[in-house]
Parts: sequence; C-alpha cells; structure tokens
Amino acid sequence: MQSSHRCQFVPRALLEGEGNPPAQLPPAFHVMLKPRGPLCNLDCTYCFYLRKTELYQKGARFAMSEEVLDAFIRQYIESQQVPEVHFGWQGGEPTLMGVEFFRRAVALQQKYRKPGMRIINSFQTNGVQLNEEWCRFFKEHDFLVGLSMDGPRNLHDAYRVDGGGKPTFDKVYRALKLLQKHGVSYNILCVVNRINADHPLRVYRFFKSEGVEFIQFIPAVEQTPEKGGMTEWTVRPEQWGNFLCAVFDEWVQRDVGRIFVQQFEVALEAWMGFEPSLCVHASTCGNCLAMEHNGDLFSCDHFVYPTYYLGNIMETPMAQMVASPFQRRFGMDKRDSLPRYCRECPVLFACNGGCPKDRFATTSDGEQGLNYLCAGYRQFFTHIAPFMQVMAQLLQSGKPAWLIMEMLRPPLTSRRLSDTM
Ligand code: SF4
Ligand code: SF4
Repeated sequence: MQSSHRCQFVPRALLEGEGNPPAQLPPAFHVMLKPRGPLCNLDCTYCFYLRKTELYQKGARFAMSEEVLDAFIRQYIESQQVPEVHFGWQGGEPTLMGVEFFRRAVALQQKYRKPGMRIINSFQTNGVQLNEEWCRFFKEHDFLVGLSMDGPRNLHDAYRVDGGGKPTFDKVYRALKLLQKHGVSYNILCVVNRINADHPLRVYRFFKSEGVEFIQFIPAVEQTPEKGGMTEWTVRPEQWGNFLCAVFDEWVQRDVGRIFVQQFEVALEAWMGFEPSLCVHASTCGNCLAMEHNGDLFSCDHFVYPTYYLGNIMETPMAQMVASPFQRRFGMDKRDSLPRYCRECPVLFACNGGCPKDRFATTSDGEQGLNYLCAGYRQFFTHIAPFMQVMAQLLQSGKPAWLIMEMLRPPLTSRRLSDTM
C-alpha cells in the first residue's frame, strides 16, 4: 500500500468523543473526488486547493490507483440507500488523469451498480484540456460538466491564469463551444471575486449571450495568514450582495424558467418551505465530503486539514467514516454553532448562516462565528423576498414561476411611452 504517501494524521472517524451524536449513516451522501489530488494545469490566483500538496510527503504521486478507484466505487455504491448515485470528479484538474481513467471508472460503476440504480457523473474542469475526444466521452456517458469561467475575457483573465501567469480565456471559451457543439450537459461555475463582483450585469449578460442556461456563482473568500486580513481577491460582503441583487433583478424580469442560477433556485426551495438543497444554505451539512487521490477522506472539500481527516477508505470502511460521530457532529455544528444574531435573523430559513468555513466574523455585540458575507446575504435574501413569495405562491397553485415576469411587466400604455423615449 502507499503508506509513504498517506497524510500522517489521526483518523477522526475512529474517535468517539463525548457529546457527539451517535453513528448514523445518511441515506445518501456525496464525495468530491480528487483523482489527481491537488495538481492542476493552471495557477488561478484565488485557488485554495493547489496548496494541499503540502499535506503529503515530498515525491507523493498524485494519481488515483486502480485499487483505490475500485474500492471507492464499490464502497460508495454499497453505502447509498437511494436509487440515484452521484459521483463528483474534481481536483485539482481531473482531466490530468486522461480519458482512459474515466472509461475505467464508468466500467466499474456498471460493475457495482445495483439493479435499477441510476449513476450520475459530474465533472468539474477548467476546460483547458477539453477536446473532441473528451466531449464525445462526456456525451456518450451523460456526464454533467461544470466549466469554470469568471465572465468575459478581461474579467475571466483577472485571476484565472496558467502557471506562467498567462491568460486562459481563449482556451476556456474554446471548451465552452466544444461542449455546446457536442450537446454535452454543462453548467458554468463563476467565482465572484473582488474584480468581477463590480460587474454583475456584464458577467451575467455575457453568459446569456453565449447560450449558457445553468450558472453557479461562488464567492471567493479567503483570509490572509495574518489574523484579520483578507486576500486581495476576496469579494467584499456588500459587493456579493450587490452582485446577486443586480443579477436577480435582471433574471426575475426576463429569464425565469429559461436561465437557472443556482442561488435563485435554492432560495426558491426555501420560500417553498423545503430545506435548501445546497449545503451552504442548508440548516446542517456533513453529507458532502472530499476524498484525496489515495483514499484519504475528509469532512468537506473546504476542510481538507489534519483536524478533519476521517481516515482512509483502504483501511476503514467509508460508510463507517461518514456515519461516525465526528462527522455527524461536523454537520450538526453548522446549525448548533450559529450566533444569536443568525438565530434571530428574519432570513435564517433561506440563509442558515452560510458555510462554516466563512464564519470568522464577529457580530455587533461581540459574538464570534458570524459569516463574513453576512451583510451581502442579508441584503440579497431581503431584496428577493417579495419576488420569491410570489413565485412560491404561483408554484403552489400549480402555475409556472415564470408568470412573475408577466406580473412585473409595466402596463402596455406605459411600455409604449417608455419605448418611444
Ligand atoms: S462546510 Fe460548507 S461547503 Fe462543506 S459541507 Fe458544510 S456548508 Fe457545504
Ligand atoms: S443573513 Fe447573516 S444573520 Fe442572517 S442567517 Fe445569514 S449570516 Fe446569519
């Protein structure tokens, strides 16, 4: 076994710990896979994952072996008690494994699939290596591809650069067109950072004009090693709020039912009375883990640190680690550690305090654990509330949500007037 390549941390899943919830395997959970570890062919300024190489000894071979791949797929499928199983391939950059690796993965999924079980693969890529062969493969096996793109050329190239600091827009744009040409299902993952956050409509309209229908906006948030500082690419809370509100205002008037923005869809779930399906806005989490190339399992993609190392799937069954009191506590803490300011917040049901990784701010009365983005979240959820209420009512009465666009349209006479101005 690759013991020399293991991280040398205490496996938390084997610790019980007083006050932790009992072991309980959720019916479904998700593991983000890092088949090539943190290795990437780009060097995006804001990437938090590239530095994860430091967790492993010098000379570690960051490539998932057949043995680990087989064990993962078998254990993952065995542990899921739902008819649909989602595999999430990520990185680093997963295309660095080559397409053959994924052909083997698909074959193993078929080998271990339970009768009637549906397998869904999603694949997060920077797009630089995508070619006809990759796209044919994605299409043939119905992969959902997440393409990282931060907007039009100058906004995208602000931080998404290669190892030599060169821009990448042309290559990523080429990948977008290839995915579209092959009819591959895809969505855009757009990191909202200090620069593009000031241009919400330029970003959104660019994607729209390129025929994109599914968009996820992800806020760039990272502290500097010096306490209290933020990196220069971190989006400011008010920028994040303004960005989401500006995109929402355009979307709600023109694009409901046509363009799917993850934040808006998830918010609508909350206004419909459901638990938000995105972990960031769910009340608890802990069911979205991350696995490194060698089988090391961590509590979450954003918590790949020694403290959150659960163990290795080649030594401890994955189901045991996912169900462990440590991991269950990790998930419950999202709710249980909320400051009073959140617990009394009128939009708590939709926000749920955001991701714990960003909860390093202090409330006005000095309580720790407030989300750094709080001001932005409050602004956004408060701004969209009246629209969300209407859309939720439409859906609850069996009507489509896009009818809101009709309701928001100005009366014909005033439209005619404004058209002539
Ligand atoms: S820590 Fe954040 S990203 Fe990780 S599962 Fe919880 S909410 Fe999701
Ligand atoms: S908007 Fe702010 S106060 Fe309200 S739940 Fe979210 S983070 Fe907490």
